[in-house]
Amino acid sequence: MDCVFCSIAAGDIPSAKVYEDEHVLAFKDINPQAPVHIVFIPKKHVMSSLDDYDYALHADVIARIFAAIASVARDLGLTSGYRIINNCGKDAGQTVRHLHFHLLAGADMGEKLL
Ligand code: 5GP
Ligand code: ZN
Repeated sequence: MDCVFCSIAAGDIPSAKVYEDEHVLAFKDINPQAPVHIVFIPKKHVMSSLDDYDYALHADVIARIFAAIASVARDLGLTSGYRIINNCGKDAGQTVRHLHFHLLAGADMGEKLL
């Protein structure tokens, strides 16, 4: 499968890694939208998007991703806050069809979501 995030997980495309465990990888976004912009992925291509979510199959990996996000946020000292974004599908502007969550921080993003 031709998937940029699978290639990053495999080490075939270099990335600035921020966090890694057996199941989860986090790396700096190549086109940052905030001073801190980190992408969290499951290492395995378990879902193209949340649209494929099945609790029985995927609850564990989602929980692990959010544990990684919280851990990284603590380690980076993001005490002023941060935002998590998941783009699911065309209208959300999803460009990479490998489930991922964006962690954005380092600036006051205000109260508006869009
Ligand atoms: P999406 O729009 O699908 O939610 O987000 C995909 C994100 O992946 C974008 O923010 C884009 O900048 C990032 N991205 C795409 N290709 C690469 C890459 O090769 N390396 C890194 N570090 N980020 C990438
Ligand atoms: Zn993939």
